[in-house]
Amino acid sequence: MTQIFDNPADFADEALDGFVAANRGYVARVDGGVVRSTEMTPGHVALVIGGGSGHYPAFAGLVGPGLAAASACGNMFASPAAGQVYRVAKAANAGGGVLLSYGNYAGDVLHFGQAQLRLNAEGIETRTVLVTDDIASAPLDQIEKRRGIAGDLTVFKIAGAAAEAGLNLDDVERLAITTNHRTRSLGVAFGGCTLPGASEPLFNVPDGQMSLGLGIHGEPGISEHPMPTASELAELLVSRLLADKPDDAGDRVVAIVNGLGTVKYDELFLLFGKVEPLLNKAGLTVVEPECGELVTSLDMSGLSLTLLWLDDELEQFWAAPADTPAYRKGNLAPRTRREMAGPEAATAEETEKATAASADLGRLAAAVLAQVRDVVVEHEEELGDLDAIAGDGDHGIGMRRGVDAAAAAGKQNAAAGASVERVLTEAGEAWSERAGGTSGALWGSAVIAAGLALGNRESYQAADASAAVTAFTDAITELGKAEPGDKTMVDALLPFRDAFRKAADGGASLGSALAIAAAAATEAARQTADLRPLKGRARPLAEKSLGHPDPGAVSFGLITERIATYIESGAGTSDADNSKLAAAAGNGAKND
Ligand code: ADP
Ligand code: MG
Repeated sequence: MTQIFDNPADFADEALDGFVAANRGYVARVDGGVVRSTEMTPGHVALVIGGGSGHYPAFAGLVGPGLAAASACGNMFASPAAGQVYRVAKAANAGGGVLLSYGNYAGDVLHFGQAQLRLNAEGIETRTVLVTDDIASAPLDQIEKRRGIAGDLTVFKIAGAAAEAGLNLDDVERLAITTNHRTRSLGVAFGGCTLPGASEPLFNVPDGQMSLGLGIHGEPGISEHPMPTASELAELLVSRLLADKPDDAGDRVVAIVNGLGTVKYDELFLLFGKVEPLLNKAGLTVVEPECGELVTSLDMSGLSLTLLWLDDELEQFWAAPADTPAYRKGNLAPRTRREMAGPEAATAEETEKATAASADLGRLAAAVLAQVRDVVVEHEEELGDLDAIAGDGDHGIGMRRGVDAAAAAGKQNAAAGASVERVLTEAGEAWSERAGGTSGALWGSAVIAAGLALGNRESYQAADASAAVTAFTDAITELGKAEPGDKTMVDALLPFRDAFRKAADGGASLGSALAIAAAAATEAARQTADLRPLKGRARPLAEKSLGHPDPGAVSFGLITERIATYIESGAGTSDADNSKLAAAAGNGAKND
């Protein structure tokens, strides 16, 4: 049970504030997480880790020399938003590029992925290595689908040490990938964890039972067992991990016995004492092991065993010193404090000189966003009901939160005379931060991508509209990785893009190209009723969804229809200032 708080809704934020106050020699607060409070060496790679809160010392406790440069910290068990990851990574960047590394969870992948696109677009070279060590979450031949648990530590430690040694981004990334490929974990739970303010735990394990392979957010385990003795538990964990060992494994391993929240250190030590002889019996030598709380799950009663099969290079970086609030090893020379801009300065907007054409287009974009908000509000309930059939029923409310925030950000920036790039990137960021859910991350990133594609130019041509539609589409397919037929919004998005391009290339005006494309999207959305969902939250309830269209595809159809109607009516481009823009943005290539 979590007991110490004023308001449960502020738990993660206030805990992080107190953590920073108590560890000011290591970390400083930035919007969305924490960054080292000591100097980074210029030109070094910045390892940026993160995820939901509730896993301390992961993730903020692992920030310091020899380990992470910064951590993006979300709400309890919830991914940080893309904008937060972006700001944290920007504060951490020392000129050598950024490596994002975090456990493989859908929400984190979308939000960190979106931040990565944005960092790269701004010229901060950014790569990602996902941690996928949990052998209970998918078979070995689908290792890329596995979740990340305590194996976070091995990947972060080795990547952090490589960055500290001055290796370049290619090498730091390569070492992180190798470490992840050679790391395996398996966890057990004896009792659930309770979110601050909740009266019931997220899950329960029956008395006298143990759940094998349960996830660190209470995701169901793979099997239930009568509570074993320590020796039996060691035998079970070791044998399962060894059966899953990587192909190129050597005979030197790191072993980590990790407590998930309420198992006492003495118990963890006792178990470690049983684990090592079993590894030795299997011909393995244990190198610099760890035993303690490293990746936790609030007050969950449980533990995990992690093995990392070393090679010479990995062993050197595993053994290297590190100095963070929660993880210290060897000796590192003291660092000078870095001059931190205050939080206000860090978020203060850089000034922008918008061109007249881009500011015009920015006003049109804001007006379009207001239309998008209206149509979502009109259909909020219907979209929620559709999502409740096989999903979690939040598509209406999630889209509503997203478009409310996006329309407000769009309006504010357009009124200030911002470029279309600024209007759309701010709107997309607001959408993603406020909406939550898969669709929020996807729409947010797509709106940002369209804004970046339109940029801040002296003039706009018809081809720019096609480029924006393409960037919008690519952002969603690159982030969400859904294929046609998976029953997602992509099933409406791709027909929209194709119809739009064809019409625009054929000389149609912007309004009529949009109308043709929106009709194609609406029809394709209708046809998703015949499909079974293969992605997203609806996947486990695929049969229930048959006969009903996909909510994300339906909302996409509705939104694009509304935009087309608005542009075709000329409402957004009626005043004299905007007529030039209408000519540039609205007419097809052969229509001059
Ligand atoms: P959540 O699924 O997180 O509850 P929403 O309910 O707001 O989010 O959105 C659900 C919609 O998101 C689905 O109907 C589908 O169209 C879309 N979606 C889910 N996963 C993906 C994906 N990987 N790629 C594209 N669209 C997706
Ligand atoms: Mg949903």
